[in-house]
Amino acid sequence: MNKAQIYASRTDVMFQCPTCDTTFVYEDEILPTEVPTYHTCEKCNLPLFIEPLSVHVGFKKLKSDKKKPKTGEDYYKIAQDHIKLEKAAKTIIMSYGFTKSQVDAAREYCWQMHLINTGDSLEEVVKNIIANID
Ligand SMILES: [Zn+2]
Repeated sequence: MNKAQIYASRTDVMFQCPTCDTTFVYEDEILPTEVPTYHTCEKCNLPLFIEPLSVHVGFKKLKSDKKKPKTGEDYYKIAQDHIKLEKAAKTIIMSYGFTKSQVDAAREYCWQMHLINTGDSLEEVVKNIIANID
């Protein structure tokens, strides 16, 4: 299916007087976009300053289009998840009777040898650490 393209759009903007809450509408054709304008409130007669507006209409990126680069927050979450996973792995391995220092040393070695990477499953991490305990 072809995707419709945006050809034109129109925007009416509703403003409100901050003093009496009376609203008024500026239709697309009279919206100030370059220079400010003034409007006199119909109810309280106060002049109101209207700053130029910019209106942009565009399609939202759909979730399925996601190719967005990972943000710092994403990396932080990945790291946090991995830390939790390693803690779980350590608990499991120590339950087999290995000491904390044996597990820490093997874990350190696995990292240096790139045998463990973020994104690994718990099973992989446990297996690789056990395989490298002296
Ligand atoms: Zn007013």
